[in-house]
Amino acid sequence: MIPVEEALERILARIGSVSDERVTLAAALGRVLAEPVVATRDIPAWPNSSMDGYALRAVDAAAATRERPARLRVAGEVPAGRLADRPAAAGEAWRIFTGAPLPEGADAVVPQEDVAADGQRVTVRGRIAPGAYVRPAGEDVRAGDVVVTPGGTIGAAEVGLLATLGYSQVQVYRRPRVAILSTGNELADLGTQPGPAQIPNTNTYSLMAQVIEAGGEPVNLGVAPDQLEAIIERVRWGLSAADVLVSSAGVSVGELDLVREALARSGAELHLWQVSMRPGKPITFGTREGRPIFGLPGNPVSAMVTFELFVRPALRKMEGAEVIDRPRVRARALEPIPNPGSRRGYLRVTLTADAQGYGARLTGDQGSAILRSMVLADGLAVVAPDTTIAAGEVVDVIVLRALEPRSR
Ligand code: AMP
Ligand code: MG
Repeated sequence: MIPVEEALERILARIGSVSDERVTLAAALGRVLAEPVVATRDIPAWPNSSMDGYALRAVDAAAATRERPARLRVAGEVPAGRLADRPAAAGEAWRIFTGAPLPEGADAVVPQEDVAADGQRVTVRGRIAPGAYVRPAGEDVRAGDVVVTPGGTIGAAEVGLLATLGYSQVQVYRRPRVAILSTGNELADLGTQPGPAQIPNTNTYSLMAQVIEAGGEPVNLGVAPDQLEAIIERVRWGLSAADVLVSSAGVSVGELDLVREALARSGAELHLWQVSMRPGKPITFGTREGRPIFGLPGNPVSAMVTFELFVRPALRKMEGAEVIDRPRVRARALEPIPNPGSRRGYLRVTLTADAQGYGARLTGDQGSAILRSMVLADGLAVVAPDTTIAAGEVVDVIVLRALEPRSR
């Protein structure tokens, strides 16, 4: 059996990135940037006020005190969206509003709540420092700055910054197309009436959802029965229609576990089989003409966990993402977390935050067919073979989703 790290290395060594494309800014959320975003101008473009108040030349109020206030003449008004009609002269105060450009010559703003004003004159009863309440040109971004680097994922803040810089379109990596194949005589697909000993096809749908979560585009190849020719035919179809093929089931050691043979007969080269982990041991990986093929195990939790550990990082790498891993946190076990047996455990846990950090608790029965405990899971606790994490001890948890307050 191959250790998880080595398996991932073997996989990633064979993964390249997909091509890139141009998308509108509105469609760029969640995509990975393929070119550096360079600021075309300073932001802000000119010095502007951060308060509603009066713009002035700080030197005119440099000596102002409570007893000897500076009295300045109100010379004009600058609302946001307008320029002052002339430069500020000595002894002048200009009514100004948040975001409005400072009149030329003015270098400070005094907030309206700090002065007495009668419309004609402003009385300043304290020293004003040069630059007070002024946002200098370029304080956020300077022309020529690289503000988002290639490989970065575009979030809401990046969208805002790109809009500020005038980018209506951006160059991003294409979404990899991922063909999903379920195999098994026992599977009844959605919309068909299950036979007496049939079970619903779960994996096609959980895996398609995981592909979308990972930034890919799923292609549904449906269900193939446990017959060599039928599987080979779907594998060929998948590899012609997509960048990656992901199958589930049929990779164990039973007589009807035909996926590995089907892959080999379709011309694929197999690079690994059987990884030292629980759940998910029989995972298989191969390539045909450079296209990655993942043969995931059939139990619904095994399929999801192996997707998380191997397929997701591969897809993120194809998408050009700089960071391909899920975040990990250190959490205190809130109750014992046992991992009996000789394989590393990936155990489903909830994560709760308290004053001491994160606490982790098993979601219940860890059987590889218990999908309910995957539904409850915030993350996967990584536990060494033959080890029990005692209550209060710390464990590494791979975070699978955004943490939300829970009422459980
Ligand atoms: P296998 O490796 O083919 O023996 O599959 C392992 C277990 O996973 C069996 O109990 C299968 O019935 C189950 N299984 C396989 N594929 C799916 C699927 N698409 N949806 C739900 N369960 C599945
Ligand atoms: Mg089977």
